[in-house]
Amino acid sequence: MALQLKHVTKRFGDFTAVDDLTLTVEKGMMYGFLGANGAGKTTTFRMILGLLNANEGQITWNGKTIAYSTSPEIGYLPEERGLYPKMKVEEQLIFLGELRGMSKADAKKAIGYWLERFEVPQYTSKKVEELSKGNQQKIQVIAALMHDPKLLILDEPFSGLDPVNVEMLKKAILDFRNKGATILFSSHRMDHVEELCEQLSIMHHGKQIVSGSLREVKRSFGRQNVRIRSDYELAG
Ligand code: ATP
Repeated sequence: MALQLKHVTKRFGDFTAVDDLTLTVEKGMMYGFLGANGAGKTTTFRMILGLLNANEGQITWNGKTIAYSTSPEIGYLPEERGLYPKMKVEEQLIFLGELRGMSKADAKKAIGYWLERFEVPQYTSKKVEELSKGNQQKIQVIAALMHDPKLLILDEPFSGLDPVNVEMLKKAILDFRNKGATILFSSHRMDHVEELCEQLSIMHHGKQIVSGSLREVKRSFGRQNVRIRSDYELAG
């Protein structure tokens, strides 16, 4: 078992953002969190990473608690993108790679590979602020991937990307997964989750309303006739 959440609850004051969440993500699995704004996806990720403390419950990755800042095997694409606008792309990525435990030489090699792969090699010495929002997003994705994490957490990785770039990123995520990484990602959109994930949780107002394989989720939705939003209506 790779990642385990047991009865995890997070409250902000008297507001419960995540309510008694239990799930297991096996090693090498791609796991999707689907939910509308405010469903509790980001809060869940931040608790998994140790960036927020849960009020109740336990979270373990291979039996231990994660501390993102000191765990080089974790990669994280935060929802609030956090690049330094005045820094050059390569400098920025070397800095972030070093924070994840990479040597400068390894970081440069990985950066070259990913910039090429995301079709933006010409931006190495551009300042981040000179790039479009979509290209900044690619840089932030590279920061999450470049050190070859074993657990990759991507918060809304496709938001703000055009369809061509969505496809490019999906392919990169799938290749990554084929190398054995465990991947969690969140989305508002069923089609992204459906295409990429073996297992998923649908969250709504902090509660996991259904979870399991895509087939199980579809069956459960059919049985309960749960229609939280048109986004989640499942074909078949
Ligand atoms: P989105 O797609 O909008 O990011 P989400 O599913 O990721 O949605 P969260 O960001 O986890 O949702 O937020 C869940 C709820 O918790 C929201 O109602 C949000 O306003 C609230 N919340 C999150 N962080 C805090 C905080 N630090 N203090 C108070 N409330 C918070």
